[in-house]
Amino acid sequence: MSDDTPSYGFDTLQIHAGARPDPATGARQTPIYQTTGYVFRDADHAAALFNLQEVGYIYSRLTNPTVAVLQERIATLEGGVGAVCCSSGHAAQIMALFPLMQPGCNIVVSTRLYGGTVTQFGQTIKRFGWSAKFVDFDDLDAVRAAIDDDTRAVFGEAIANPGGYIMDVRAIADIADAAGIPLIIDNTTATPYLCRPIEHGATLVVHSTTKYLTGNGTVTGGCVVDSGKFDWAASGKFPSLSEPEPAYHGLRFAETFGPLAFTFHGIAVGLRDLGMTMNPQGAHYTLMGIETLSLRMARHVENAEKIAKWLEADDRVEFVTYAGLPSSPYFERVKTVCPRGAGALFTFAVKGGYEACIKLVDSLEIFSHVANLGDTRSLIIHSASTTHRQLTPEQQEAAGAAPNVVRLSIGIEDADDLIADLDQALSKATA
Ligand SMILES: *Cc1c(COP(=O)(O)O)cnc(C)c1O
Repeated sequence: MSDDTPSYGFDTLQIHAGARPDPATGARQTPIYQTTGYVFRDADHAAALFNLQEVGYIYSRLTNPTVAVLQERIATLEGGVGAVCCSSGHAAQIMALFPLMQPGCNIVVSTRLYGGTVTQFGQTIKRFGWSAKFVDFDDLDAVRAAIDDDTRAVFGEAIANPGGYIMDVRAIADIADAAGIPLIIDNTTATPYLCRPIEHGATLVVHSTTKYLTGNGTVTGGCVVDSGKFDWAASGKFPSLSEPEPAYHGLRFAETFGPLAFTFHGIAVGLRDLGMTMNPQGAHYTLMGIETLSLRMARHVENAEKIAKWLEADDRVEFVTYAGLPSSPYFERVKTVCPRGAGALFTFAVKGGYEACIKLVDSLEIFSHVANLGDTRSLIIHSASTTHRQLTPEQQEAAGAAPNVVRLSIGIEDADDLIADLDQALSKATA
């Protein structure tokens, strides 16, 4: 299948995009190219590859044929021009920021983020001389006001972990656009099946492929997708992309690679020097999972809708945050941002608070108590005592991870079995 076939539907592309029968053997499934090095045809070929004058394989820290298929697959599903896979979702976030940032620069980010991201942005990136301003993305004036001359990106999650809140991607993209900076969307919890952020104006999309894209809880991985639409030279704010890059003997990435500048920079400088590389085995597992993405997501959403409705009607439950419920303030927004459904991740508050939440988690039989999401298996976690434990009570509240709520990641089992499991555990928790 050639690359210029955008007319195929999602279900076809999730199986075929980026892959072709192996040129050496005809193998129909993408082989796992378990190799670190690649033999150069001759010295001129080697020189051309190192000069980025010819595209090919040098060393698997930079590029690998199995990983390359996954990169093209995800880029196609997101409607981007290129993608760089990396070792985890957190690596992808650093890889997305790395070409944009200098010491002294900041990013404007949503308060509603995965707990690990709050810590990464709130604490760890300070060691690089970067900083993050946390803003409620439902307050558009506050987002506008937070952007200053040193802001280099705006960052949010399309469907926010843990509450399943929906971001108005278009409104935030317009604000970033007016400021001449890119919007980066973490699309992990939505996946391109439910939301395509680039169509709503995002410049970059990041993924933890650990979650739904792989889908079965086997490997960690990440990915940065570039829309190819941002003019890196226009503002003078992104010298690593628009000016001669000293880390690549003065190459001007924007001038040389046009819409692929960010992707080439991510490989030639990012992966080369940060080394956050995805391994070919990991890419293989994710390629296996991604083939059934649409089938799984449709079922995840169907189950989540049933379970959220059941929980909301139960008087042992205080509230349910699922954006697919008419009671949610995000219900209308779902129709434009993620028309195929509000995902399968949400929280609910148990009457009885912290203690009841702990008892509930310990009483479930099908749901596993796991710090992961996007598995075929249903998972539950008490965020305040685990993933969001490092946060202050105010940050927990703002992130939707207050002590009286638990987060569900609804799997693709029989919905009736999941409801029965929640029913018996709620009885024990609130007895
Ligand atoms: C899990 C997760 C991450 C981090 O991904 P890892 O693969 O665990 O590094 C980032 N964002 C969201 C929304 C996540 O759920």
